[in-house]
Amino acid sequence: MNGSYARSRLKAFVTSIFCFLTLIGAYVCTIILLANRLGYALSFVLTLAIGILAYVGVIEPLAYLRHGVDYSLSTMAVKLGCRAPVILNPSTKGYAGCVIGIFPHLRFIVINKRLLNELSKGEVEVLLAHEVAHLIERHNLKHVALGLLLTLITAIFIESIALWSMWMSFVIIILILYTRRHERDAAKIAANAVGSTKYKEVMKKIDELSRGRRSTLLNAWYKITHPDIS
Ligand SMILES: [Zn+2]
Repeated sequence: MNGSYARSRLKAFVTSIFCFLTLIGAYVCTIILLANRLGYALSFVLTLAIGILAYVGVIEPLAYLRHGVDYSLSTMAVKLGCRAPVILNPSTKGYAGCVIGIFPHLRFIVINKRLLNELSKGEVEVLLAHEVAHLIERHNLKHVALGLLLTLITAIFIESIALWSMWMSFVIIILILYTRRHERDAAKIAANAVGSTKYKEVMKKIDELSRGRRSTLLNAWYKITHPDIS
């Protein structure tokens, strides 16, 4: 087990470095794009970067590495249907969990460490089921693909600043609706796995625990993108 534990840490490290370099790449590309107005190839790189960054949390995963991979939660994730190392996030910020990465074998589930003390094992399993559902459905990859498509359209068709402003408003709405759809799908899959009533109860509890630790803006984002399931 020690060997695979060490490998998981190495993979998490590689993922984090990749994300970090992508962030720097995105900044460089933005500057070049702004200087040259258009650059089709660079637009691709930029969107790929932004798509990944939107899900990755970027530099934070580097910090998680100190805490390593949680073996018992990783085993629980396998039982729920996905082989992905679970990393604990020591952040005091109010997010409960997320998934990192788009490539097979380089994907991770992150759970807020603080919640482990506040939830029972069965309740943590519910949160894990939600994150596993995101991985099974490859939601991160789908988001990156949509980002690429939208950027390609931007690069080919959008030439004036006025049109760009309108288009970008439209893009933001599309991305919110797409995120909302993925959250609803993940909720349904998780509810099927652990039971609908239990799922709703636990997610409500997690939301109540996390709400006070989040900024108003982040709370609004959660509310918009996480629909209630019926
Ligand atoms: Zn989710």
